[in-house]
Amino acid sequence: MSFFESYDPRFDRFVMFNAPVKKLATGFDWVEGPVWFGDAGCLLFSDIPNNRILRYTPGQGISTYRAPSNFSNGHTRDRLGRLVSCEHGTRAVTRTEHDGRITVLADSYQGRRLNSPNDVVVSADGAVWFTDPHYGIGSNYEGYQAEQELPCHVYRIDPSGVLEAVITDMNCPNGLCFSPDESLLYVADTGRIGMGDPTHIRVFDMVAGRPLGGRVFHAIQPGAADGIRADADGNIWSSAGDGVHCVAPDGTLLGRIIVPEIVSNLCFGGREKHVLYITATTSLYALALNRKGVQHP
Ligand code: MG
Repeated sequence: MSFFESYDPRFDRFVMFNAPVKKLATGFDWVEGPVWFGDAGCLLFSDIPNNRILRYTPGQGISTYRAPSNFSNGHTRDRLGRLVSCEHGTRAVTRTEHDGRITVLADSYQGRRLNSPNDVVVSADGAVWFTDPHYGIGSNYEGYQAEQELPCHVYRIDPSGVLEAVITDMNCPNGLCFSPDESLLYVADTGRIGMGDPTHIRVFDMVAGRPLGGRVFHAIQPGAADGIRADADGNIWSSAGDGVHCVAPDGTLLGRIIVPEIVSNLCFGGREKHVLYITATTSLYALALNRKGVQHP
C-alpha cells in the first residue's frame, strides 16, 4: 500500500518511499498534544480520557510522565524550554517550571472561568497564545462537564502576565501555529461537533503583534483541522479525518499522508526536526520526512 497521495511535485520531495508511516504505540483512548523535547530525546503527549501525559522515548517506548494530568490536551515549550500545557480539568493553561513546580498562567478572563484550553503556542517575544473551545466541558469524558461561562476565543498571555482575548470571531478555535517568521498566525476552527459548522483553517496577518483579518486559508476534508504545524518553508501540516494533509502557503493541498485512524495532532521532532509525530485516536505514529519543522526551542 502507499502511505502517500501526492497532488503536486513539491510533495513528492517531502516524503520518501522507504520512510513508512510507523505505529509506535497503541492502546490509548484519545491522544493529542504531542511536543518534542530535543534535549531529553523524547516526545510528550496527552491521553486525555485516561488523564495522563505519556512520554515516548525512541528505542525505549512508552512511560508515564504525569498522572493525573488534569486532563491535559495541547502542549508546547516556551523559549526557555519549559512545558506549557492546556488543561481541561482545571480549565487552565499551566507552565511546568524547570524544578517541576506547576504555575497557572491563566484560568479565567474578566471574572469568568475559561472553557477548556485546547492548544497553545509561544511566540518569539515569550507571549503564550491559546485557544479556548468548549469541548472539554461538554461531557465527563475529557474533563468535567460544566456550564460554559465564556465565548470560545483565542487568547494571548503577555509576558507580563496580562491575559487578552485577541480573536473573538471564531466558532470553536482549536489548533494554532505561526508561520516561520511569525508574520502569519494560523488558527483552525473545528466548529460545534456534528452541527454542520464549517471546519477550516483561517490565517491572520500579524501587524504590530496583533492578529488582523482572518481569511479562510484552507478547508480540510474529510474531517477537520485539529492540530496544525508549519514546516521551515511555511507549508502547513494539518490533522485530517484520513491522515495528515500538507497545504502550501497559498492554500493549495499538496498531498496527504494516509493514517489508518483519525488524526488529532502532530508535531515535528527527532534529531533534525525531520520526524513528523502524529497522535491519532488510540495510537502514536511517526514518519521521517525530507523536510524540517519549525519548533522552538
Ligand atoms: Mg486540539
